[in-house]
Amino acid sequence: MSVAGQLHELQEIDLEIADEEHKLEQVVGRLGKDDVVVTAREKLDAEKEKLKELRHQQHSLEWEIDDLASKIKAGDDQLYSGKIKNPKELSSLQHEVELWKAKRNGLETKDLEIMEKVETVEAGIATLNQELEEIDAGWQREQEGFRNEKAVLEGSLNDLKQKRQTLAAEVDSKVLTFYERLRKNKGLAVARVEQGICRGCRISLPSSELQQARRSALVQCGSCSRILYLP
Ligand SMILES: [Zn+2]
Repeated sequence: MSVAGQLHELQEIDLEIADEEHKLEQVVGRLGKDDVVVTAREKLDAEKEKLKELRHQQHSLEWEIDDLASKIKAGDDQLYSGKIKNPKELSSLQHEVELWKAKRNGLETKDLEIMEKVETVEAGIATLNQELEEIDAGWQREQEGFRNEKAVLEGSLNDLKQKRQTLAAEVDSKVLTFYERLRKNKGLAVARVEQGICRGCRISLPSSELQQARRSALVQCGSCSRILYLP
C-alpha cells in the first residue's frame, strides 16, 4: 500500500475514534443525570407539604369548633335551667349563645371547604406518587441502557485504538508526525482525489500533481495542503 493509502486508512480510524469518543462523552454525560426524577419528587413533596398545612388548619378549626360547642352547651344549659331570673342577663346570654352558634356555623363551613381541599390534594398526591414510580422506573431502565452503551463504546474504542497502533507502527515516524500536524491544523490531513479533483478543497488538480500522486509519492494539494490520496 502507498504511504498516502496507509495515512488514509489511519485517518479513517481516527475519524471513527473521534466519533465513538463523542458518543461516549454524551452517554457519560447522561449517566446519573436524574433531573426528571428530582423534579417529579419535588412536585410530590410540595403537595405533601400542602396537605400537612391543610390538616394542621383542619385540626385547629376542629379544636375551635369543639371549644365553641362546649361553650354553647354550657350557655344553653344555663338558659334552660331557669336559674337566671334577670331578663337583661338572660337576653344578654341568649345573644352571646347566638353569636357562638353563628361563629360555629361559619367555622363548620370553612371546615367542609378544607375537607374538600384535603381530598383533592390527597388524590393529587396519589397520582403524583404513581407518576414518580413510573418516571423512576423509566429512568432506571434508561440508565441501564446508558451503562450498556458505555461498555460497548469503551470496548469498540479499545479495539479501534489497538488497530490504530498497529497501523501507525507501519508508518515512518517522520511521516506520522507530519500527518498529525496536518490533522491538527486541517481537521482532515488526507484528501481523496476523485476525477482529478481534491475532495478536501474541491479544486481541480494540475496534471503534474496528479502524476506525482499516482507514482505513490507523498504529494500535498497545492491549494489546501492536504496529502493527496488516489484510491
Ligand atoms: Zn485540496
